Amino acid sequence: MQLEQDNPGATIVPIIISTDKTQLTLFRNKAAYPVYITIGNIPKEIRRKPSHHAQTLLAYLPAARLEHIQNKSSRRRSLANLFHACMAKVLQPLESAGISGMEMASGDGVIRRCHPLLAAFVGDYPEQCLVTCTKHCPKCPISKDELGEDKALPVRALGPVLEALSAVNDGPGTYSNACKEAGIKPVIHPFWENLPYVHIFQSITPDVLHQLYQGVIKHIVSWISEMFSSAEIDARCRRLPPNHNVRVFLKGITTLSRVSGKEHADMCKILLGLIVDARTPNGTSAVRVVRAVRAILDFLYIAQFPSQSEETLDLLTSSLSAFHENKVVFEELGIRDGFNIPKIHSMQHYVESIRNYGATDNYNTEYTERLHIDLAKDAYKSTNFKDEFTQMTLWLERKEKVIRHGAFIAWRLSGQPAPLPPIVRQPHIQMTRNPTKTVPFTKLASDYGAGHFYEALQMTIARYQDSLASQDHLNYIAPKIAVPFIAVPVFHKIKFWNQDPYCRPDCSDVLDVAHVRPSQKRAQGQVPERFDTVLVNAEDGVSDVSSIRGSFNCAGVCCGVG
Ligand SMILES: [Zn+2]
Repeated sequence: MQLEQDNPGATIVPIIISTDKTQLTLFRNKAAYPVYITIGNIPKEIRRKPSHHAQTLLAYLPAARLEHIQNKSSRRRSLANLFHACMAKVLQPLESAGISGMEMASGDGVIRRCHPLLAAFVGDYPEQCLVTCTKHCPKCPISKDELGEDKALPVRALGPVLEALSAVNDGPGTYSNACKEAGIKPVIHPFWENLPYVHIFQSITPDVLHQLYQGVIKHIVSWISEMFSSAEIDARCRRLPPNHNVRVFLKGITTLSRVSGKEHADMCKILLGLIVDARTPNGTSAVRVVRAVRAILDFLYIAQFPSQSEETLDLLTSSLSAFHENKVVFEELGIRDGFNIPKIHSMQHYVESIRNYGATDNYNTEYTERLHIDLAKDAYKSTNFKDEFTQMTLWLERKEKVIRHGAFIAWRLSGQPAPLPPIVRQPHIQMTRNPTKTVPFTKLASDYGAGHFYEALQMTIARYQDSLASQDHLNYIAPKIAVPFIAVPVFHKIKFWNQDPYCRPDCSDVLDVAHVRPSQKRAQGQVPERFDTVLVNAEDGVSDVSSIRGSFNCAGVCCGVG
């Protein structure tokens, strides 16, 4: 790297900056524009937990809308210049520190020459464009008409852009033309202009929350609602069987307003179930719609893997191609006219960004959304609501000092332990408790709704006794099998969970729960019986889709036959 050549022996401190405007009050329309800072050297498990205070408020930017400027485009230009002037002032210390470095002690007590360099900027799409002074894509020079294509250009080169920016003193006309030539907006001194070793276009990171959940998925939901009619989609929502990890949308999903990222995530879990085997308006099969939606969901989930490999990045690329191959169905059915949507284009840059900066949970904007509550909204509440920002910063400064001192006292009292135990990555699967009770076969159907349990058990035994038999033969012999007991132990709840990698006792992560219960009388009326279905891997625990038929048995979970 260039820095190592210029000044050998450097330790890089990658600075991650995020900004996100937030509403402080619902009615009086007061907004705050906080800038948060954190560093890439902190493990992401710590960085993303607000309780660990790895993110600090750096500044509040002016949230003024400059409404006194009548001309819209000149107001937009002034707002952009104001943003960059403020950010330049806030980040100015990075200029000299990035070049010559500064001595800092790390957690292990070793003093290193650290170079803080702006590495990543996290923000939503308008902020990304504002920061990079670009129009359609903050990363590459793609044109407006190609945003919907399966095509990405290489990231913009910084050299020509900096050259254009150096023409700022040659008069407004010359400067405008130079910037236009370089493909950027004529902002006066963008804040990154003089920051050392910064490539601002590369620093723009994927944003799963705004680009995928609140962008692409939002579009997909509206397209399929239009295609299959809102009434049908909502009716299908109500018909879905309950499951521990699936939210039940009893009112459907098409009438919700101001849908949050969490709600979109909940919709994604049922989206395929809502459209599978549905009929398109012209009566044709919806198989290409299912393929397109499935490809987007694959992309969404693979993009969020906490660690990535060449193999998963290939899957990410191929699911994006699968979407582009099948998306034309939305045009054919008259739902869409073109796909030139910046958020759809943004998916083109995920693979490269993950290669440069690691898994997307390193720079997720979801975490800053949580910070707003601590660092903007609570702070605002502590003021007398007049000239609030000076009061807010003072309040936060005091609070930070109290927290830091509290952490120091806790550390001394606990005998000054090492920062964190080593990471143990061990998926921990556990079935809890003894069976709740023993239930006769006859009662399984009437009390638990497990209708064909006895027949399924006979079939399982038949298949176990003769694993090579054909299905026809099994159908013939299974009903003749006499099961030598009349009741089975029933588990009302089974938990499957993964241990927290740091073994912190307060962080056990329940991944899934299978519920079984008989019909019950409650105050609000009769609650119907329920039993969940699980897929049991009967072989080596390797799960890939093609092996489901061969090695998994579908079993009602309520009963362990012993
Ligand atoms: Zn692009």
